[in-house]
Formats: sequence, C-alpha cells, structure tokens
Amino acid sequence: MVNALTIDVEEYFCYAYPGDTLSCQEWAELESRVVPHTLETLKILENHRIRATFFVLGWVVEREPHLLREIHDRGHEIGSHGYGHRLVYTQQPAEFRDDVRRSVDLIGQVIGEKPVGYRAPSFSITESCLWALDILADLGFVYDASIYPTRMRHSGAPRMRTDPHRLDNGMWEFPAATVKLAGMELPFGGGGYLRLYPFLVTRWATHRINSSGRPALIYLHPWELDPYPPVAPRSRFRRFQHTVGLAKTRSRLLHLCAEFEFAAIGDVLARLHTEADGVVDFAAAK
Ligand SMILES: [Zn+2]
Repeated sequence: MVNALTIDVEEYFCYAYPGDTLSCQEWAELESRVVPHTLETLKILENHRIRATFFVLGWVVEREPHLLREIHDRGHEIGSHGYGHRLVYTQQPAEFRDDVRRSVDLIGQVIGEKPVGYRAPSFSITESCLWALDILADLGFVYDASIYPTRMRHSGAPRMRTDPHRLDNGMWEFPAATVKLAGMELPFGGGGYLRLYPFLVTRWATHRINSSGRPALIYLHPWELDPYPPVAPRSRFRRFQHTVGLAKTRSRLLHLCAEFEFAAIGDVLARLHTEADGVVDFAAAK
C-alpha cells in the first residue's frame, strides 16, 4: 500500500486558531524560518526517494518564490494552501474564492502551471462550509485534501467518508488519516498527533488502515522540524497543540519514511483509480 505524504509550506507563525490568529501585517514583522526547514524536509525526502505533495501558502510564495521553484524542480507535486491562511469556515464564499485564486495565480507565475490539489488551513473545510468544495472544482482543482472526517474541537467533518473518494462535483477528496477505535474515528495523520502520540501508535494505526485497503494521508509542516520556534499561540491549549513534541518530528518523519511507502497525493489517487475510472487526468500532477 502506498500512502500519501503531504507538507504544508508555511511559517511557524501562520497558525490559525479561532480567536488566536496573527494578521499578514504582523507576520511581516517576524523572523522567517521557512526556507531552511523546507530545504531540510526536501533533503530527507530525497534521501528516501519519496515524491510528496507540497501545499504552499501564497504569502510564502510571494516572499520566497525561489523556494517554490526548488520544490518543483526536485519533482514534487505542488498544491495550494491558499494565500492568507484564514480558516475557511470564517470566510464568505467570495472571500474564499479570492484567497484561493490569489494563491493559484502566484504559483502559476513561479512554476508556469496551476496547482492540482488544495489543502485548507487547519483542515477547516467542515460540514458548515462544504460550498468551498464546489468553488475549488470551479477553479479547476482535481482534488481536495482538507477534510478531517471526525469530530474535532474546531474543525472536522464527522459525516464525511474516511477513504479517498470522488465527490458529486467530480473532484476527488483525500481525507486526513483516522483509525476506528472504540466506535470513534481517531485522528492520527500528522501535526500535533504525530508529535504527541508514541510512534508505536502512529505505526499501528497506519498498518491498521493499510490492512483494510485504505492509504493513509500523513501531513506535516517544515516548522515542525524547528524545536524552538520564536513565537507560539497565546492560549495555553493552542500553545501546547502547536509546540508539543517538536523535537520529535524529525525522527518520526525518518521512521515513517523508512517503514512505509509514500507518494504524492496525485500519484496515490492515480494508482487507486486508474482501473476503476479512467476519466480523471492526473497527468498534471506528475
Ligand atoms: Zn497551514
């Protein structure tokens, strides 16, 4: 089973938690660290011969276009993480469309092609804003990877399917990994979960859903390779979520890369659906 590995390229200060978000103007005052940690991530993937999906934030592309060019030149799949990292469910449809289109235009200017996939900031496409999926289809995206199909504190879409599937609007949805435990879908696919759980749990959960025929979607951020980020969210809970176990990220990524097979989302979807449905063209993702 080939799993999907995704990297959300943003700064350590681009967090978006309800009631605790810095503005783009405030970001501009802070020390940038995205380049070295993204290059470190690229090196790890190169050592393991893994092609991943990089969802790049438009704000970062604007400041570091050479970083996007580097990721693209190394053969990785490029997706959009929007422009300003605002939670989707706090936006009006027109604002969301403008934010995503701005990121698509920036990416196109740098690499000469449009991103095929989208990842919402903080997996913030919930059941209250599924209209976002139709806007993404309208903007030409082939797939979305923004759904956490379980109940969560400030995101999650517990009624959505847990496996990669085709949406009514023709786009594909590749949800974040969850594993069924005691009747609940337990999130484990990356971020704070990857850092907080003992690695044995991540390994067990990945094997468990792979053995049921489902690929896992694993995600992380370059800033998670930085054990001492200068700025953290203000609220105690969010600070914990954002910084717990940062010193463990690197070794956990290395363990994952050594133990499991990974590819970019477009490649995993193409493998899953080539026989079942020849209509979708993932060529742009390769
Ligand atoms: Zn993000």
